[in-house]
Amino acid sequence: MTVKHISVIGAGTMGNGIAHVSAQAGFEVSLVDISDEALKKAYAAIEKNLGRMVAKEKITESQKSETLGRISLETDLTKAASNADVIIEAVNENFDLKKKIFQTIDEHAPEHAILASNTSSISITKLAAVTSRPQSVIGMHFFNPVPVMKLVEIVSGLETSSKVTATIEELSRKLGKTPVPVNDFPGFVSNRVLMPMINEAIFCVHEGVGTPEHIDEVMKLGMAHPMGPLRLADFIGLDVCLDILNVLYDGFKDPKYRPCPLLIKMVDAGKLGDKTGKGFYEYH
Ligand code: NAD
Repeated sequence: MTVKHISVIGAGTMGNGIAHVSAQAGFEVSLVDISDEALKKAYAAIEKNLGRMVAKEKITESQKSETLGRISLETDLTKAASNADVIIEAVNENFDLKKKIFQTIDEHAPEHAILASNTSSISITKLAAVTSRPQSVIGMHFFNPVPVMKLVEIVSGLETSSKVTATIEELSRKLGKTPVPVNDFPGFVSNRVLMPMINEAIFCVHEGVGTPEHIDEVMKLGMAHPMGPLRLADFIGLDVCLDILNVLYDGFKDPKYRPCPLLIKMVDAGKLGDKTGKGFYEYH
């Protein structure tokens, strides 16, 4: 299948980055959101990021306008689904919301279209099961910030066809990314390895083993991590970390994934990291 048109559903943090790299790679892009405000904000973010690339002489001014010219903003999901070859869903991490979106796009997308989700933790097999084409449903897990991060974790559900996996791997390479195939298990590979490390770092704070600064310093200087686990947890969002740990805990029924009580307490207190200005560190 030749991919020409990509529709990205959800114009938040991840959606605008996915639309950016897709348009820059030459694809026609429809960026869809329920909120006009989110669409305007996303377009402004893409424009700003492309402007930064022009300033660094990575692209020319005309490449910037051509890229922007390939992006159309949409609030009509059915319209955006009907002319897409690949649909990448990037709405909030909520199963019921994603289920509704997948049912709608399944109904309106052409028969050949591939339905991908950027979910960080929801089962691709479960999402595929709400559609009439589980063989064409796949996880395309990008990382934040999308224009910078090279990895796309390609998640095959129980029924995803190998042809669909191959098409999405090839598409990821065209977007300038490195696809890594994994199978559908809670947390995939990225969060299954990352979240227990972050959780353990939080236990170290909780038990007084070290301060956040010292724990992060150990991991940066001793393990060559560019960012310590607690700084990273603040960046991801402590609520998101807690949600993913709960997915791992519920999915495997294994106490090794139990979220640290300090993490739960911080989320209850609204200390979510960068987005609220307070987490393990303070942000101004
Ligand atoms: P976000 O909150 O920034 O954006 C979500 C967007 O979806 C919002 O603009 C919202 O208006 C829109 N939306 C909600 N309902 C909609 C609907 N019915 N139709 C169209 N748009 C709708 O979220 P995000 O951080 O971009 O995360 C999106 C997805 O990507 C989630 O599944 C998340 O788990 C995953 N993810 C996030 C990150 C990250 O670091 N933020 C990394 C990898 C994967």
